[in-house]
Amino acid sequence: MSSPIAIHWFRRDLRLEDNAALYHALKSGLPVLGVFIFDQTILDQLTKDEVSPYPDRRVQFIYQSLVRLQQQLRSLGSDLLVEYGVPLDIWRKWTDQYNIHAVYTNHDYEPYAIQRDQDVRQLLSSKGIGFHTSKDQCIFEKDEVVKDDGKPYTVFTPYSRKWKANLTHFYLRSYPNEKYFHHFLKVEETLPMPSLNEMGFQEMAIHFPSPNVDEMLLSKYADRRDIPGIQGTSRLGIHLRFGTVSIRTLARKAFERNYTTYLNELIWRDFYMMILHHFPHVVNGAFRPEYDRIAWRNDPDDFEKWCKGVTGYPIVDAGIRELLETGFMHNRVRMITASFLTKHLLIDWRWGEAFFAKHLLDFELSSNNGGWQWAAGSGCDAAPYFRVFNPTLQTQKFDPKGVYIRQWVKEFDSLTYPSPMVEHSFARERALQEYGATLSKTNR
Ligand code: FAD
Repeated sequence: MSSPIAIHWFRRDLRLEDNAALYHALKSGLPVLGVFIFDQTILDQLTKDEVSPYPDRRVQFIYQSLVRLQQQLRSLGSDLLVEYGVPLDIWRKWTDQYNIHAVYTNHDYEPYAIQRDQDVRQLLSSKGIGFHTSKDQCIFEKDEVVKDDGKPYTVFTPYSRKWKANLTHFYLRSYPNEKYFHHFLKVEETLPMPSLNEMGFQEMAIHFPSPNVDEMLLSKYADRRDIPGIQGTSRLGIHLRFGTVSIRTLARKAFERNYTTYLNELIWRDFYMMILHHFPHVVNGAFRPEYDRIAWRNDPDDFEKWCKGVTGYPIVDAGIRELLETGFMHNRVRMITASFLTKHLLIDWRWGEAFFAKHLLDFELSSNNGGWQWAAGSGCDAAPYFRVFNPTLQTQKFDPKGVYIRQWVKEFDSLTYPSPMVEHSFARERALQEYGATLSKTNR
């Protein structure tokens, strides 16, 4: 049998630098081979259809990131092993092919990934192979920031206070992976990678946000982050999602330069990951179960208008069209569109959540779920249900000159633009009645 090796399994950590599990693999003393699996179970659920104007852009992002990783590894005399299939089957094959001593990978907190990792751990352990996992996606995970009595926080502000109190340089320090790059397995012949076409996807011309952290932007973030008509936010969501930027490097910058508002947003990210870990029921239902009793109208025609960005509320329509065209939607507008769907149209927040999940480049189950439940009022730390966003007032405040609206709703100034699909005060009253009636029944 060939000499033993260690494997680093890349998933949402597509970088060689400051990568926790990769660091431990490289330090293990064994030659390390990097691997990635295009998970057929996940890819089969995504839009591959050429007829669809919006095939999945994230697969292309992953693909491009892997090509970059592979080039880096080849320049170090190693390579990246990439396969397409069902993870357990692929692992069975690899354990037959290679003399694997141990597998290293980073934690993933989503229910599907937890189950997948359990299955793989079991398989590897049945063959006497170690499975070592590390925290890498967030600064604090699971039980690292809890109340004094050991229970998880369910409200953001006290959580963030404790988060900051617990923070030391230790948590922000980068892993010096580069010191051990010479421990990568030397690979003589280049390893092939399945093409996008082979997996049923088309290559498209897409512009992805840059992974570079713009210091100027961060220094002005607090004042500009709520204005959708300018680029006032970092657009790093997709890079945090797939690990092409390290959360430690980013949080350290925010902390050291005192970009406190920005750091706060990164804490929201940790907060929602922690919520998903402790309260996995949020994946299927309301954090507060009484909200599952709301009699949503769920009118399919209304939903279609919202999905197409033809509600007659320009700020809502601009947001949806920005999302469809680019895979991004500004945070302020995510809140407005989500509030509109759940309150004005009384459509189940899960419909909107699924729509965002399909289209957002930065889709993150925990933050998306948290954001939607916040808007619907059913979340752990939500706006009270009787606070209904008024799209017109929101526009006056955050896009008073219609810069953002005109960017995405080209016919805004013409007669072809539709009139509002529902009148605001009527819709607000209807929502308050439904929410009020349901919740008062629960409280009795
Ligand atoms: P910046 O403002 O530059 O913030 C930097 C990073 O901080 C973000 O990339 C993100 O990782 C994190 N962050 C910022 N705001 C939040 C927040 N409120 N909650 C959690 N993390 C935050 N964020 C996602 O990453 N994925 C999602 O799927 C997602 N869905 C959302 C759905 C709804 C209904 C709402 C209201 C918000 C959602 N958010 C989501 C949070 C937020 O809108 C995005 O993180 C942000 O708009 C991404 O743009 P950016 O990278 O320019 O963020």
